[in-house]
Amino acid sequence: MSISKSTSPLVTLKLLNKEYGQFTAVNHINLEIEKGEFLTFLGSSGSGKSTTLSMIAGFETPTSGEILLHDDSLIHVPSHKRGIGMVFQHYSLFPHMNVRDNIGFPLDIRKVPKAERDKKVDEILKLVQLADFADRRPAMLSGGQKQRVAIARALVYEPEILLMDEPLGALDKKLREDLQDELRQIHRRLGITIIYVTHDQDEAMRLSERIAIFKDGEIVGLGSGTDLYNTPPNAFVASFLGNSNFLKVRTQTHCEAQFEQQTVKLGHLTAQLPIQAEVLLMVRPENIHVLPKELAANQPLPEDMNEITATVEETVFLGESYTCSLITASGQRLMGKAVAREHTNVSVGTQVKVRWATQHSCVYDQWSEQDIMKAS
Ligand code: ADP
Ligand code: MG
Repeated sequence: MSISKSTSPLVTLKLLNKEYGQFTAVNHINLEIEKGEFLTFLGSSGSGKSTTLSMIAGFETPTSGEILLHDDSLIHVPSHKRGIGMVFQHYSLFPHMNVRDNIGFPLDIRKVPKAERDKKVDEILKLVQLADFADRRPAMLSGGQKQRVAIARALVYEPEILLMDEPLGALDKKLREDLQDELRQIHRRLGITIIYVTHDQDEAMRLSERIAIFKDGEIVGLGSGTDLYNTPPNAFVASFLGNSNFLKVRTQTHCEAQFEQQTVKLGHLTAQLPIQAEVLLMVRPENIHVLPKELAANQPLPEDMNEITATVEETVFLGESYTCSLITASGQRLMGKAVAREHTNVSVGTQVKVRWATQHSCVYDQWSEQDIMKAS
């Protein structure tokens, strides 16, 4: 009987490590990148994203560890022979060349015949919607257009992999979103593998099929944006991505905990939890429903829901709903949502019932206070 052979990843990082003197910038990371995927390194400044990307590109040499392309080591392959295109935040276009020649440059140095070169440049000009600007010099282009030239130049020699380090970081929000849409389309059309670096979680969510979350030189979360958001693997990722509420509860069994004399059912577990221990229960604000007490009294608690009591500290009107800042008897704070038509009795200072579905909570038995402090 034959065992079906699994295809190897396009790029494999094995215990990849980079030290600068005593300082560890990238700490023994392991990662497999599939052919054709759009993977984003997301993390705050200094977390090791660019260093990792630079090692893949060949601009930095790892202190130890391995980088494989297919099954071959890239460690001793010079940067320009890796078949990798690169785009940075700061466009390094040649000011004296027009758009067409800037884009054609990688083909010129590879001595591609003129007819083929012109054809490729024309195709890529269309792809990045710059056909009408082909004869302009960079000084006569907007920031967004310049960055499209940089992207076109990286794509024109059809690299197997495109690395992008905060390529849209210098652009304003609207333009950034337009280019994000274009990038997604380019990725879909060319089927190229893209490894993208950003510190902007909206951008990571919008672009990527998978996100690797970097913290202190390590990858602490890896998966689709949806999975990382809905079931974060740890409290740091829960706090880092989007908004989150954390309640400290005391486990009674493997699936129930005590919170201020109330019993709550635990949600997604990342580990077998210890009994009679303080654990962290996380619920996203949009999954926290705030009900006036009278209303809660008339709506029996469904089997799969939890309920605790809290006091309203502040409400903010958002049209169809109110965001409520709440505080529990023991002083734990959380944010929740009240539906506007049910809001009449959700006013500051009143006691309310707070409900969430068990499946919308995640539980962690290991965390640090720093993990759950929102880094902004
Ligand atoms: P990110 O791209 O996530 O913002 P980097 O990969 O650029 O982070 O940097 C990771 C850490 O390594 C930072 O603390 C940075 O100061 C440090 N670092 C990067 N390059 C060097 C260098 N050439 N010498 C010393 N430290 C460096
Ligand atoms: Mg960086």
